[in-house]
Amino acid sequence: MTNVGLVAVSHSEPLARAARDLALDMGKDAVIIAAGGTGEEGFGTNAELISSAIEKADSGAGVVVLVDLGSAVMSTEMALEFIDPDLAERTTVVPAPLVEGLVVAAVAAGAGADRESVAREAMGALASKLADIPYDDGRAVGTAQAETDDAGTDDTGSGQAGAGHAGAVPSGAGRTGEPAETGGKGQAGEPAGAVAGNDGAGHLSPNENALDDDRAWTSRRFVVDDPAGLHARPAAALVRAVSGFDAEVRVAHEKAGRGPNPANSMTSLISLGVQHGDEILVQATGPEAVKALDAVGHLADRGWVADGEPKPEVSTIPAHKRKPSSGMEIAVGPALVWRAKHRDDVHQTSLNQLDAFETARRAVREYLESLGENPLLALQFGLLDDPTYTGNIINRIDDGVPAGVAIRAATDSIVSTYEDLPTDYLRERADDVVELGALLAQALHGESLGGLAKAIEEFGTAPVVVLDSLTPALASEIDEGTVMGIVAATGSTTGHGALIAAAKGIPVIAGEPQAHEITHGVEVALEPRSGKLTINPTREQLRELLRASKEQQRVDAVAMAHAHEPAMYGDQQILVSANVAMIGDATAAARNGADGTGLVRTEVVFADYDDAPTIDEQVAAFTEIARTIGTDKPMTIRTWDVGADKPISFFAADAEDNPFLGVRGIRLMRRFPLALIDQFRAIIRVAQYAKIQVMVPMITTVAELRWAREKFNEAVQLEGRPDEIPEFGMMLETPAAAVQIREFKELVDFVSVGTNDLIQYMAAADRGNADVAELAADVVPLVITMIANAARELDSPVSVCGDLASSEEYVPLLLEAGVRQLSVRPGLVPRIKQAVRHASSRSDDLGD
Ligand code: PEP
Ligand code: MG
Repeated sequence: MTNVGLVAVSHSEPLARAARDLALDMGKDAVIIAAGGTGEEGFGTNAELISSAIEKADSGAGVVVLVDLGSAVMSTEMALEFIDPDLAERTTVVPAPLVEGLVVAAVAAGAGADRESVAREAMGALASKLADIPYDDGRAVGTAQAETDDAGTDDTGSGQAGAGHAGAVPSGAGRTGEPAETGGKGQAGEPAGAVAGNDGAGHLSPNENALDDDRAWTSRRFVVDDPAGLHARPAAALVRAVSGFDAEVRVAHEKAGRGPNPANSMTSLISLGVQHGDEILVQATGPEAVKALDAVGHLADRGWVADGEPKPEVSTIPAHKRKPSSGMEIAVGPALVWRAKHRDDVHQTSLNQLDAFETARRAVREYLESLGENPLLALQFGLLDDPTYTGNIINRIDDGVPAGVAIRAATDSIVSTYEDLPTDYLRERADDVVELGALLAQALHGESLGGLAKAIEEFGTAPVVVLDSLTPALASEIDEGTVMGIVAATGSTTGHGALIAAAKGIPVIAGEPQAHEITHGVEVALEPRSGKLTINPTREQLRELLRASKEQQRVDAVAMAHAHEPAMYGDQQILVSANVAMIGDATAAARNGADGTGLVRTEVVFADYDDAPTIDEQVAAFTEIARTIGTDKPMTIRTWDVGADKPISFFAADAEDNPFLGVRGIRLMRRFPLALIDQFRAIIRVAQYAKIQVMVPMITTVAELRWAREKFNEAVQLEGRPDEIPEFGMMLETPAAAVQIREFKELVDFVSVGTNDLIQYMAAADRGNADVAELAADVVPLVITMIANAARELDSPVSVCGDLASSEEYVPLLLEAGVRQLSVRPGLVPRIKQAVRHASSRSDDLGD
């Protein structure tokens, strides 16, 4: 015989367990699963926990779920969305009292009663208690449902505390002797003019007072912007907020026709059924009526969080700390808005401005050092001692300019130079300068630097951090796993801050002006794959996102479980390796089971060097990457691909009108042959203890490749013809090279396709220009045909290291085209390996 299962949902994990144990003591044969808490410390509910509890409780006869308060209901509704629809059909959520209901339901379920009977039992649980404790409120007390539906009346605040059972009635009950009906009647018959003049923001307007019975009620309206509405925690805060005043306060949910209910009773506040975005009418009477309403106003301004309390977990979104991941997941959480401080730093009174500046400079240096070693902070470190920047500041101070003004002027001057630069990459460096200026100004005024990490910690739950600009220092402050995601109003995903965050696996949306509309505490959902941001998602949108997110998590978990296994396509292993631009990428690649690295972007590795790195410095950097990924795994190092969107100061180049069509990659290296030879030498040295290949970018003609091969051979000679000579390859990223690929065959050991550039040159559509992105997408099939042609023409293996390889959608087509190695974003390795396996089984099905 299969019994109906029971689930106890509570904000408190120990409470759910204790209620279960108590009920099992009486209904021994019942199956009860406790679903309390969020899975982390603290109180709250978690839709995922509840859904798996329902799945566990069901043995075919269905499930009855009992919940405690407020958002537990919403989380349970969400949980029903997650589970199999048939199981959802045979699940009943009952508004019965948790403990009493669970006990009688356990007895009924244990005895084999059907679901309907178990639910009915639970609903009748209060009846026996009432029989034991007579409670005369002058009307029949039925179910909780009947009470909440009874608009205009109030059960808890009905003034019965003094009716003989004071000890048994919650202390928050209404004022003894004052019948609640007074307020109820007053509200019901209140003329529209009684609250005229109140605005939605809760500001008090003149002529607020309305006569209600024989008392004057002052009214204000407030919007409840807590994502879960006026649930337990905001209701408790409201009770506390008004409790200290000599005033009687009541609350109505006019739109729903509920209330007014006394504001000193949490349960009656919750029973108003106020949801996110609903307006409540708060009325007060008595000597301190206005003060009490001010206190409610203050609470509303704080997002319904009591003073001194951190923003609690109010979301139904699981509140776990994030695990390091691909940074591509949907992220939902309350917003922690971190705005850059705008300050008036002119009135610096220090007698010695130079000393004040030097002290500030030291403080900034210490702060940057405290963020750990990160090459992306190098620009700011460098600027601290830069003769142009700090020299400019010092000169101005010498001329009698206050230090704060001097910092601002020198910063503005550098920023204006950077902002005129032709590429996004360089323009984004202006953000770094602005941040350094702000840090110096802050330090000058004795303010402590940073603080984002602390704000995140104090926030209480993993937030979505919202800021104007995700600078490298701010990104460095954020520890992985402590935030759900980041939204930046400016910048792009190639910004240094975004790169640091991405390497930590944090979902980021950058360059989204909507970020300015986000207010503190508001729920924010971001979908990094599409770049879509939703502020204050509706419950329906949340459900949709949760469904999508749960599906993504499921797929990710399966992929991760097989991440360190080979990806087989038929009987061939497809190497799924990672593209690496910094050491964080290599760490992520190793964690995600990368089979190696198919592209080390050397120009990014050394982007922040002022001078060209020496051979030894290059050896050290490549060795670190190789050791992180594993020296037994193949690593393809690309020679300098400087120019276009990746200018580098130590390879001086002339300004160009069309830098993507200009002197970039191998074209630029022909001007710097010694630098290329040095790089080849460093690569050859590392090849003595790691599995290294080398490739050259932006090849258009055979002559270019022949020249590069000559430089490589010279490097081999200079290194004394060592035992291990790395395989030599080229990037296929210009249409000219693609159509004459056969001509390159004898000169290379392998070919790696740079689809980012090949697509942009095929479509004549700038890869960084969103307006022509569609055009670029349209030529993808042509590019795949080109790749198939190259694979046919060449005897050597073809790999793809452009972003097309990171797209699950295109993996089957690339494999069909003959590609045998994919080099992808580090976080996506597990998913792409799965895509290979799926493509393999599909081609098996087709009998290939
Ligand atoms: C490409 O062009 O696809 C490529 C991998 O090189 P990059 O993106 O560094 O230009
Ligand atoms: Mg390229």
